[in-house]
Amino acid sequence: MAQFAVIGLGRFGSAASLELVKLGHSVLGVDTNEKLVNKYADQLTQAVIADVTDRRAIEELGLDHYDVVLVGIGAELEASLLCVVHLKSAGVKKIWVKATSRAHHTILNKLGVDRIIHPEEEMGIRVAQALSYPMVNDYISLGNGQFVVEIDVGARLEGTTIQQFLVESQEDIHILVVKRKADMYFHPADAFELHAKDILVLAGQLDALKTIAPMLS
Ligand code: ATP
Repeated sequence: MAQFAVIGLGRFGSAASLELVKLGHSVLGVDTNEKLVNKYADQLTQAVIADVTDRRAIEELGLDHYDVVLVGIGAELEASLLCVVHLKSAGVKKIWVKATSRAHHTILNKLGVDRIIHPEEEMGIRVAQALSYPMVNDYISLGNGQFVVEIDVGARLEGTTIQQFLVESQEDIHILVVKRKADMYFHPADAFELHAKDILVLAGQLDALKTIAPMLS
């Protein structure tokens, strides 16, 4: 379990906080808006009213003890930047920040934050990928054109072994996990038989995965 602090409980910050709690982490939510803090107080580990443009407020929160601080203030450029400067001075280990413009990104980059997030652009790219490959449930880019993807197994492959499938596909891919309802089969053996509605987690080059995806449906 990691300890996260999320500053700004708007749509972005609240969604991130609630998901982190769901994933089993401890989350401190911070906002100037009392209504929002009260709204999420029961769902987060802790929720605090504070103005993060105030250096003392940041120091009092003890944010240097957290694994990552996520700043979700977008509309007010000045507040976001001032907050980052205070977080840096307070010795916060890792800072992730939502950016809303090119200028915002450039300054955050200069301030040396660990990750700059552009939610609209990143979501736009994911939606385009989902539209382009509707059979792919989810994916992670590993860099260098390598991806991990999650794909449903269709009825046509009922009873097919992993080996038969790999031979038929003629692609260099790795089957990392077969998910079957609540069960997970890691690195399934060649003789493992696939069932309709299994979910495969595969790794490989994008081109190989693009060829394989339609063969699984
Ligand atoms: P979203 O799209 O996530 O709803 P937004 O970009 O529309 O966000 P913002 O104005 O960026 O809205 O604010 C996000 C949250 O950050 C709000 O709930 C706001 O109250 C909070 N916030 C803004 N300034 C500060 C500050 N100085 N200290 C703490 N919280 C702040």
